[in-house]
Amino acid sequence: MPEMSPSRDAEVIAVNLRRVRASIADAALRSSRDAEAITLIAVTKTIDPATMRLAYDEGVRTFGENRVQEARDKVAALPLPDLRWEGIGTLQRNKVRLALGLFQRIQSVDSAELASEIDRIAASLGIVMPILIQVNVAGETTKHGVAPEDVFALAQAVAALPHLRGDGLMTIAPQTNDPASVRPIFTQMRSLRDHIRERFPARWGELSMGMSDDFAIAVEEGATIVRVGRAIFGARG
Ligand SMILES: *Cc1c(COP(=O)(O)O)cnc(C)c1O
Repeated sequence: MPEMSPSRDAEVIAVNLRRVRASIADAALRSSRDAEAITLIAVTKTIDPATMRLAYDEGVRTFGENRVQEARDKVAALPLPDLRWEGIGTLQRNKVRLALGLFQRIQSVDSAELASEIDRIAASLGIVMPILIQVNVAGETTKHGVAPEDVFALAQAVAALPHLRGDGLMTIAPQTNDPASVRPIFTQMRSLRDHIRERFPARWGELSMGMSDDFAIAVEEGATIVRVGRAIFGARG
């Protein structure tokens, strides 16, 4: 196996990003959407800051981190003012204060209790925190997220909290060898989002769905945010 070098890493990431962006653009074109309206989040769990910097150099401006402690180390290592950080992993209530100091948005709100805790701490910090509600569309017991039938009630609860801003919905589709089989999950997400938007038209426009194996399908079905790790950085070690 050839030894990896920083310049080779840079080249691999540049090629991968070009490919991912081209796929997003193609999927947007197929569904008559504006590719500019779709945000690519580079998912950086287990990826070191030096490698993340290579993605930054290729124009990535939003990183998605699962773990609050890992994000804390990386935010310190990459003090670049035009970077956005979004929390995409399960958030324990005792980590909310730390998370609010690191992330510009939290995508994994899945209970009224967590929403209230974020609101309480955001109030104490004098900020309004943008959030997404995480939905467990397929009902997988191994995954976090609110059941589809409970999404509307949670959106109403979020809308009533003055220090939260409900931006939209997020989901993690089931893992499968057949990416096409997840399309109905994405379609259902879009209807849930549209339903909430009828009630709260000013917000709730975002749909965060699609990962390395299925982001093109997600874009075809209306994703406004795709969260891509392996297709940019390679398989995680
Ligand atoms: C890891 C992860 C991703 C990215 O997954 P890839 O398969 O590496 O693209 C997206 N969203 C969440 C919540 C994740 O944990």
